[in-house]
Amino acid sequence: MKNGERKHLLILLLSGVMLGVLPLPVLAVTYLQKFTITLQGIRFDSNYDNGSLEYVTESGTNIFNCKIYEDSGELGPKKYWFRFKLSEVAGRSFTLNIDHFQNPRPVISLDGKKWRRLTALEAPSSSKIVLSFEPSQNEAELAFFYPSGVEETYERVREYVNRCDSFTSKVIGQSFQFRDMILASATDPAFPDDSKHRVWMHSRAHAGEATGTLALLGFLDAVTTDSLLGRHLRRYCIFNVLPLENVDGVFLGHTRWDSQGIDPERQWGNPDRIPETDNMKKTVDEFMAGENPIEVALNMHSTVGNYEDTFFYKHVSPSVTTNFEAIQQRYIDAVNNTTNLFDNLSPQTSLLNSTIFIESYFWNNWGEAVMAMTHEGHFYNRITDQEWITDDDYHQLGEAMAFALIEYFDLPPVIGDSKGLFWFFY
Ligand SMILES: [Zn+2]
Repeated sequence: MKNGERKHLLILLLSGVMLGVLPLPVLAVTYLQKFTITLQGIRFDSNYDNGSLEYVTESGTNIFNCKIYEDSGELGPKKYWFRFKLSEVAGRSFTLNIDHFQNPRPVISLDGKKWRRLTALEAPSSSKIVLSFEPSQNEAELAFFYPSGVEETYERVREYVNRCDSFTSKVIGQSFQFRDMILASATDPAFPDDSKHRVWMHSRAHAGEATGTLALLGFLDAVTTDSLLGRHLRRYCIFNVLPLENVDGVFLGHTRWDSQGIDPERQWGNPDRIPETDNMKKTVDEFMAGENPIEVALNMHSTVGNYEDTFFYKHVSPSVTTNFEAIQQRYIDAVNNTTNLFDNLSPQTSLLNSTIFIESYFWNNWGEAVMAMTHEGHFYNRITDQEWITDDDYHQLGEAMAFALIEYFDLPPVIGDSKGLFWFFY
Protein backbone atom coordinates (compact mmCIF):
# COMPACT_ATOMS: atom_id res chain seq x y z
CA MET A 1 0.00 0.00 0.00
CA LYS A 2 1.44 3.36 -0.96
CA ASN A 3 1.36 6.52 1.10
CA GLY A 4 -1.65 8.02 -0.67
CA GLU A 5 -3.60 4.76 -0.55
CA ARG A 6 -2.95 4.51 3.19
CA LYS A 7 -4.45 7.96 3.79
CA HIS A 8 -7.48 7.03 1.73
CA LEU A 9 -7.95 3.87 3.76
CA LEU A 10 -7.81 5.82 7.03
CA ILE A 11 -10.32 8.39 5.75
CA LEU A 12 -12.56 5.52 4.61
CA LEU A 13 -12.36 3.83 8.01
CA LEU A 14 -13.01 7.07 9.91
CA SER A 15 -15.97 7.83 7.62
CA GLY A 16 -17.30 4.35 8.26
CA VAL A 17 -17.10 4.83 12.01
CA MET A 18 -18.75 8.29 11.84
CA LEU A 19 -21.56 6.97 9.64
CA GLY A 20 -22.12 4.05 11.98
CA VAL A 21 -21.29 1.55 9.23
CA LEU A 22 -18.22 0.28 11.03
CA PRO A 23 -17.92 -0.29 14.78
CA LEU A 24 -15.30 1.80 16.66
CA PRO A 25 -13.16 -1.26 17.60
CA VAL A 26 -12.19 -1.63 13.94
CA LEU A 27 -9.60 1.11 14.63
CA ALA A 28 -8.36 -0.36 17.89
CA VAL A 29 -5.27 -2.44 17.16
CA THR A 30 -3.73 -4.64 19.81
CA TYR A 31 -0.22 -5.96 19.62
CA LEU A 32 0.86 -9.36 20.85
CA GLN A 33 4.10 -7.93 22.26
CA LYS A 34 2.33 -5.27 24.38
CA PHE A 35 0.72 -6.72 27.50
CA THR A 36 0.66 -6.67 31.30
CA ILE A 37 0.24 -9.71 33.52
CA THR A 38 0.69 -10.40 37.24
CA LEU A 39 2.07 -13.82 38.18
CA GLN A 40 2.89 -14.85 41.76
CA GLY A 41 2.51 -11.21 42.78
CA ILE A 42 5.06 -9.88 40.22
CA ARG A 43 3.77 -7.58 37.52
CA PHE A 44 5.25 -7.88 34.01
CA ASP A 45 4.56 -4.96 31.66
CA SER A 46 5.64 -4.49 28.03
CA ASN A 47 2.75 -2.23 27.06
CA TYR A 48 4.64 1.02 26.47
CA ASP A 49 6.89 2.85 23.99
CA ASN A 50 9.62 0.44 22.79
CA GLY A 51 8.38 -2.32 25.16
CA SER A 52 8.25 -5.85 23.74
CA LEU A 53 7.72 -9.37 25.06
CA GLU A 54 5.47 -12.04 23.65
CA TYR A 55 4.37 -13.76 26.85
CA VAL A 56 5.27 -14.87 30.37
CA THR A 57 4.17 -18.13 32.01
CA GLU A 58 4.88 -19.75 35.38
CA SER A 59 7.35 -22.60 35.40
CA GLY A 60 7.47 -23.17 39.17
CA THR A 61 7.69 -21.11 42.33
CA ASN A 62 9.67 -17.95 41.47
CA ILE A 63 10.51 -19.31 38.01
CA PHE A 64 8.99 -17.78 34.88
CA ASN A 65 9.28 -18.51 31.18
CA CYS A 66 9.50 -15.36 29.05
CA LYS A 67 9.21 -15.53 25.29
CA ILE A 68 10.84 -12.86 23.15
CA TYR A 69 8.55 -11.47 20.47
CA GLU A 70 9.37 -12.26 16.85
CA ASP A 71 8.39 -9.64 14.27
CA SER A 72 7.35 -11.14 10.99
CA GLY A 73 8.11 -9.48 7.70
CA GLU A 74 8.23 -10.06 3.99
CA LEU A 75 11.94 -10.91 4.29
CA GLY A 76 11.30 -13.39 7.12
CA PRO A 77 10.96 -13.22 10.91
CA LYS A 78 13.46 -11.43 13.18
CA LYS A 79 13.82 -11.82 16.92
CA TYR A 80 16.08 -10.37 19.57
CA TRP A 81 14.64 -7.13 20.91
CA PHE A 82 12.90 -7.28 24.26
CA ARG A 83 12.13 -4.68 26.88
CA PHE A 84 9.74 -4.91 29.81
CA LYS A 85 9.12 -3.58 33.32
CA LEU A 86 8.91 -5.60 36.49
CA SER A 87 7.07 -4.27 39.56
CA GLU A 88 6.14 -5.52 43.04
CA VAL A 89 9.59 -7.11 43.20
CA ALA A 90 10.74 -5.76 46.61
CA GLY A 91 12.59 -8.46 48.54
CA ARG A 92 11.93 -11.03 45.83
CA SER A 93 14.36 -13.45 44.16
CA PHE A 94 13.32 -15.18 40.96
CA THR A 95 14.50 -16.71 37.71
CA LEU A 96 13.46 -15.75 34.19
CA ASN A 97 14.01 -18.31 31.47
CA ILE A 98 14.44 -16.07 28.45
CA ASP A 99 16.29 -16.90 25.29
CA HIS A 100 18.34 -13.70 25.01
CA PHE A 101 20.70 -15.15 22.45
CA GLN A 102 22.71 -12.63 20.36
CA ASN A 103 23.56 -10.61 23.46
CA PRO A 104 24.77 -12.67 26.42
CA ARG A 105 24.43 -9.74 28.82
CA PRO A 106 21.23 -7.72 28.54
CA VAL A 107 20.78 -4.53 30.57
CA ILE A 108 18.77 -3.54 33.64
CA SER A 109 17.54 -0.22 35.01
CA LEU A 110 16.35 0.35 38.54
CA ASP A 111 15.20 3.94 38.03
CA GLY A 112 14.00 3.98 34.40
CA LYS A 113 16.89 6.27 33.42
CA LYS A 114 20.28 4.75 34.04
CA TRP A 115 21.04 1.30 32.65
CA ARG A 116 23.80 -1.21 33.33
CA ARG A 117 24.74 -4.63 31.99
CA LEU A 118 23.58 -7.60 34.02
CA THR A 119 26.40 -9.30 35.91
CA ALA A 120 27.61 -12.83 35.18
CA LEU A 121 25.63 -13.98 38.24
CA GLU A 122 22.48 -12.26 37.00
CA ALA A 123 22.83 -13.65 33.46
CA PRO A 124 24.55 -17.01 34.00
CA SER A 125 23.64 -18.21 30.50
CA SER A 126 22.00 -16.85 27.37
CA SER A 127 18.74 -18.53 28.37
CA LYS A 128 18.51 -17.47 32.01
CA ILE A 129 18.30 -14.30 34.11
CA VAL A 130 18.44 -14.56 37.92
CA LEU A 131 17.43 -11.48 39.90
CA SER A 132 17.30 -10.58 43.61
CA PHE A 133 15.91 -7.31 44.88
CA GLU A 134 16.41 -5.43 48.15
CA PRO A 135 13.28 -4.71 50.20
CA SER A 136 13.59 -1.05 49.15
CA GLN A 137 13.64 -1.87 45.42
CA ASN A 138 10.15 -2.46 44.06
CA GLU A 139 10.59 -1.85 40.31
CA ALA A 140 13.05 -2.69 37.55
CA GLU A 141 13.23 -2.75 33.77
CA LEU A 142 15.04 -5.21 31.52
CA ALA A 143 16.08 -4.76 27.90
CA PHE A 144 18.13 -6.47 25.21
CA PHE A 145 20.52 -3.50 25.04
CA TYR A 146 20.69 0.11 26.30
CA PRO A 147 17.40 1.30 24.84
CA SER A 148 16.35 4.52 23.16
CA GLY A 149 12.59 4.48 22.56
CA VAL A 150 10.67 7.06 20.56
CA GLU A 151 9.95 9.57 23.34
CA GLU A 152 13.32 8.97 25.03
CA THR A 153 15.08 9.74 21.75
CA TYR A 154 12.95 12.79 20.92
CA GLU A 155 13.40 14.11 24.47
CA ARG A 156 17.18 14.03 24.03
CA VAL A 157 16.90 15.64 20.59
CA ARG A 158 14.76 18.45 22.06
CA GLU A 159 17.31 18.93 24.85
CA TYR A 160 20.15 19.40 22.33
CA VAL A 161 18.17 21.52 19.88
CA ASN A 162 16.96 23.81 22.67
CA ARG A 163 20.56 24.79 23.43
CA CYS A 164 20.44 27.59 20.89
CA ASP A 165 17.68 29.58 19.18
CA SER A 166 19.20 28.95 15.76
CA PHE A 167 19.02 25.14 16.06
CA THR A 168 15.81 23.67 14.71
CA SER A 169 13.82 20.51 14.72
CA LYS A 170 11.04 20.00 12.25
CA VAL A 171 8.64 17.24 11.36
CA ILE A 172 9.45 16.01 7.83
CA GLY A 173 6.36 13.80 7.69
CA GLN A 174 4.58 11.00 9.46
CA SER A 175 5.22 7.28 9.53
CA PHE A 176 2.73 4.69 8.32
CA GLN A 177 1.11 4.77 11.78
CA PHE A 178 1.21 8.59 11.81
CA ARG A 179 4.10 9.11 14.20
CA ASP A 180 6.25 12.18 13.61
CA MET A 181 9.57 11.81 11.83
CA ILE A 182 11.78 14.58 13.23
CA LEU A 183 14.82 16.18 11.59
CA ALA A 184 17.16 18.17 13.84
CA SER A 185 19.39 20.79 12.22
CA ALA A 186 22.26 22.94 13.46
CA THR A 187 24.72 25.41 12.01
CA ASP A 188 26.16 28.81 12.94
CA PRO A 189 24.01 31.46 11.20
CA ALA A 190 26.66 34.11 11.86
CA PHE A 191 28.68 32.63 8.99
CA PRO A 192 27.40 32.47 5.42
CA ASP A 193 26.23 29.07 4.20
CA ASP A 194 28.10 29.23 0.91
CA SER A 195 31.32 28.01 2.51
CA LYS A 196 29.68 25.23 4.51
CA HIS A 197 29.52 21.45 4.11
CA ARG A 198 26.15 19.75 4.66
CA VAL A 199 26.29 16.54 6.71
CA TRP A 200 23.41 14.09 7.07
CA MET A 201 23.01 11.31 9.64
CA HIS A 202 20.08 8.99 10.33
CA SER A 203 19.49 5.90 12.43
CA ARG A 204 17.02 3.12 13.15
CA ALA A 205 16.04 1.95 9.68
CA HIS A 206 16.02 -1.27 11.71
CA ALA A 207 14.01 -0.98 14.88
CA GLY A 208 16.14 -2.91 17.37
CA GLU A 209 19.47 -1.38 16.34
CA ALA A 210 19.80 0.93 19.30
CA THR A 211 23.57 1.46 19.01
CA GLY A 212 22.91 3.58 15.91
CA THR A 213 20.68 5.97 17.81
CA LEU A 214 23.02 6.12 20.81
CA ALA A 215 25.90 7.12 18.50
CA LEU A 216 23.65 9.53 16.60
CA LEU A 217 22.71 11.28 19.86
CA GLY A 218 26.43 11.60 20.67
CA PHE A 219 26.96 13.11 17.22
CA LEU A 220 24.08 15.57 17.74
CA ASP A 221 25.39 16.43 21.21
CA ALA A 222 28.82 17.22 19.72
CA VAL A 223 27.51 19.45 16.95
CA THR A 224 25.14 21.40 19.21
CA THR A 225 27.32 21.81 22.28
CA ASP A 226 28.71 25.22 23.24
CA SER A 227 32.38 24.20 23.15
CA LEU A 228 35.31 25.31 21.00
CA LEU A 229 34.89 22.16 18.88
CA GLY A 230 31.11 22.46 18.63
CA ARG A 231 31.34 26.10 17.52
CA HIS A 232 34.12 25.21 15.05
CA LEU A 233 32.01 22.47 13.44
CA ARG A 234 28.97 24.74 13.12
CA ARG A 235 31.14 27.47 11.62
CA TYR A 236 32.00 25.18 8.69
CA CYS A 237 29.11 22.69 8.48
CA ILE A 238 25.34 22.38 8.37
CA PHE A 239 24.09 19.31 10.23
CA ASN A 240 20.83 17.46 9.50
CA VAL A 241 20.09 14.55 11.81
CA LEU A 242 17.11 12.19 11.55
CA PRO A 243 17.15 10.06 14.71
CA LEU A 244 14.35 7.59 13.96
CA GLU A 245 13.58 6.38 10.45
CA ASN A 246 11.54 3.31 11.46
CA VAL A 247 9.73 5.18 14.24
CA ASP A 248 6.78 2.74 14.29
CA GLY A 249 9.06 -0.29 14.61
CA VAL A 250 10.89 1.39 17.51
CA PHE A 251 7.61 2.18 19.29
CA LEU A 252 6.34 -1.36 18.70
CA GLY A 253 9.53 -2.90 20.10
CA HIS A 254 10.35 -4.67 16.85
CA THR A 255 13.74 -6.17 16.16
CA ARG A 256 13.98 -5.08 12.54
CA TRP A 257 10.92 -4.44 10.36
CA ASP A 258 8.40 -1.62 10.26
CA SER A 259 4.74 -1.86 11.32
CA GLN A 260 3.84 -3.47 7.98
CA GLY A 261 6.65 -6.03 8.05
CA ILE A 262 8.60 -4.10 5.41
CA ASP A 263 12.35 -3.41 5.56
CA PRO A 264 12.71 0.41 5.36
CA GLU A 265 16.41 0.01 4.56
CA ARG A 266 15.71 -1.64 1.22
CA GLN A 267 13.07 0.61 -0.33
CA TRP A 268 15.21 3.17 -2.14
CA GLY A 269 14.52 1.69 -5.56
CA ASN A 270 10.89 2.61 -4.96
CA PRO A 271 10.93 5.03 -2.00
CA ASP A 272 7.27 6.06 -2.19
CA ARG A 273 6.22 2.51 -1.29
CA ILE A 274 6.31 3.48 2.42
CA PRO A 275 5.98 6.95 3.95
CA GLU A 276 9.22 6.64 5.95
CA THR A 277 11.50 6.48 2.88
CA ASP A 278 9.20 8.77 0.90
CA ASN A 279 9.58 11.48 3.57
CA MET A 280 13.34 11.00 3.67
CA LYS A 281 13.71 11.07 -0.11
CA LYS A 282 11.79 14.35 -0.38
CA THR A 283 13.99 15.88 2.32
CA VAL A 284 17.19 14.60 0.73
CA ASP A 285 16.08 15.79 -2.73
CA GLU A 286 15.37 19.25 -1.34
CA PHE A 287 18.86 19.49 0.14
CA MET A 288 20.50 18.11 -3.00
CA ALA A 289 18.72 20.71 -5.16
CA GLY A 290 19.81 23.54 -2.83
CA GLU A 291 23.00 25.56 -2.62
CA ASN A 292 24.52 23.29 0.04
CA PRO A 293 23.95 19.71 -1.10
CA ILE A 294 24.73 16.85 1.27
CA GLU A 295 28.41 15.88 1.13
CA VAL A 296 28.50 13.26 3.88
CA ALA A 297 25.61 10.88 4.73
CA LEU A 298 25.96 8.40 7.57
CA ASN A 299 23.46 5.57 7.99
CA MET A 300 23.66 4.20 11.55
CA HIS A 301 22.95 0.51 12.23
CA SER A 302 23.81 -2.35 14.59
CA THR A 303 24.96 -5.88 13.85
CA VAL A 304 24.34 -8.92 16.03
CA GLY A 305 27.74 -10.35 15.13
CA ASN A 306 30.43 -10.46 17.83
CA TYR A 307 32.94 -8.25 16.04
CA GLU A 308 36.22 -7.05 17.46
CA ASP A 309 35.31 -3.45 16.62
CA THR A 310 32.41 -1.48 15.19
CA PHE A 311 32.78 -0.92 11.46
CA PHE A 312 31.86 0.99 8.34
CA TYR A 313 30.71 -0.79 5.20
CA LYS A 314 33.08 0.61 2.61
CA HIS A 315 31.69 0.16 -0.89
CA VAL A 316 34.23 -1.16 -3.35
CA SER A 317 34.78 -1.25 -7.08
CA PRO A 318 33.40 -2.18 -9.54
CA SER A 319 30.15 -1.06 -7.84
CA VAL A 320 31.80 2.33 -7.20
CA THR A 321 35.01 3.95 -8.46
CA THR A 322 38.35 3.28 -6.83
CA ASN A 323 38.50 7.00 -6.16
CA PHE A 324 35.26 6.71 -4.16
CA GLU A 325 36.82 3.85 -2.19
CA ALA A 326 39.59 6.27 -1.23
CA ILE A 327 37.07 8.98 -0.32
CA GLN A 328 35.29 6.58 2.06
CA GLN A 329 38.61 5.41 3.49
CA ARG A 330 39.55 9.02 4.29
CA TYR A 331 36.53 9.31 6.59
CA ILE A 332 37.18 5.88 8.14
CA ASP A 333 40.77 6.95 8.84
CA ALA A 334 39.61 10.29 10.22
CA VAL A 335 37.31 8.55 12.74
CA ASN A 336 40.17 6.19 13.59
CA ASN A 337 42.40 9.20 14.27
CA THR A 338 39.81 10.91 16.45
CA THR A 339 38.91 8.27 19.05
CA ASN A 340 40.43 5.26 20.78
CA LEU A 341 36.97 3.60 20.68
CA PHE A 342 37.41 2.85 16.94
CA ASP A 343 40.51 1.33 15.35
CA ASN A 344 39.06 -0.15 12.16
CA LEU A 345 39.94 -3.61 13.47
CA SER A 346 36.92 -5.21 11.75
CA PRO A 347 37.00 -3.53 8.33
CA GLN A 348 34.10 -4.61 6.13
CA THR A 349 33.48 -3.98 2.46
CA SER A 350 30.54 -4.58 0.18
CA LEU A 351 29.57 -4.20 -3.42
CA LEU A 352 26.95 -1.48 -3.44
CA ASN A 353 23.56 -2.79 -4.52
CA SER A 354 22.51 -0.92 -7.62
CA THR A 355 19.14 0.29 -6.33
CA ILE A 356 17.81 -0.60 -2.89
CA PHE A 357 19.85 1.34 -0.31
CA ILE A 358 20.01 5.06 0.43
CA GLU A 359 23.71 4.78 -0.47
CA SER A 360 22.60 3.43 -3.89
CA TYR A 361 20.30 6.43 -4.27
CA PHE A 362 23.11 8.88 -3.50
CA TRP A 363 25.57 7.06 -5.78
CA ASN A 364 23.19 6.76 -8.73
CA ASN A 365 22.24 10.43 -8.61
CA TRP A 366 25.31 12.25 -7.32
CA GLY A 367 28.22 9.79 -7.53
CA GLU A 368 31.38 10.81 -5.72
CA ALA A 369 29.84 14.07 -4.53
CA VAL A 370 28.21 12.32 -1.54
CA MET A 371 30.29 10.14 0.78
CA ALA A 372 27.45 7.88 1.96
CA MET A 373 28.27 4.97 4.23
CA THR A 374 26.66 2.66 6.78
CA HIS A 375 28.13 2.24 10.25
CA GLU A 376 27.45 -0.90 12.26
CA GLY A 377 27.67 -0.94 16.04
CA HIS A 378 27.55 -4.20 17.98
CA PHE A 379 26.41 -5.40 21.40
CA TYR A 380 29.63 -6.97 22.71
CA ASN A 381 33.02 -5.69 23.91
CA ARG A 382 34.71 -2.35 23.41
CA ILE A 383 38.15 -2.44 21.90
CA THR A 384 39.95 -0.40 24.56
CA ASP A 385 39.75 -2.85 27.48
CA GLN A 386 37.46 -5.66 26.31
CA GLU A 387 34.79 -4.71 28.88
CA TRP A 388 31.16 -4.79 27.76
CA ILE A 389 30.47 -1.85 25.49
CA THR A 390 28.08 0.75 26.96
CA ASP A 391 25.70 3.52 25.96
CA ASP A 392 28.37 6.07 26.96
CA ASP A 393 30.85 4.40 24.58
CA TYR A 394 28.44 4.80 21.67
CA HIS A 395 27.79 8.42 22.68
CA GLN A 396 31.55 9.08 22.56
CA LEU A 397 31.87 7.26 19.25
CA GLY A 398 29.14 9.50 17.81
CA GLU A 399 31.00 12.58 19.08
CA ALA A 400 34.14 11.29 17.38
CA MET A 401 32.27 10.89 14.09
CA ALA A 402 31.49 14.60 14.29
CA PHE A 403 35.01 15.69 15.19
CA ALA A 404 36.43 13.46 12.42
CA LEU A 405 34.80 15.84 9.92
CA ILE A 406 37.49 18.41 10.72
CA GLU A 407 40.13 16.09 9.24
CA TYR A 408 37.84 14.73 6.49
CA PHE A 409 36.90 18.18 5.16
CA ASP A 410 40.39 19.49 5.89
CA LEU A 411 38.95 22.31 7.99
CA PRO A 412 41.28 24.71 9.76
CA PRO A 413 42.46 23.10 12.99
CA VAL A 414 40.82 24.19 16.22
CA ILE A 415 44.16 24.56 17.95
CA GLY A 416 47.53 23.55 16.57
CA ASP A 417 47.77 20.45 14.44
CA SER A 418 45.61 17.30 14.50
CA LYS A 419 47.57 16.00 17.47
CA GLY A 420 46.74 19.20 19.31
CA LEU A 421 43.09 18.64 18.46
CA PHE A 422 43.28 15.10 19.82
CA TRP A 423 44.67 16.27 23.12
CA PHE A 424 42.16 19.05 23.35
CA PHE A 425 39.35 16.58 22.86
CA TYR A 426 40.53 14.29 25.63
ZN1 LIG B 1 20.43 -2.54 10.21
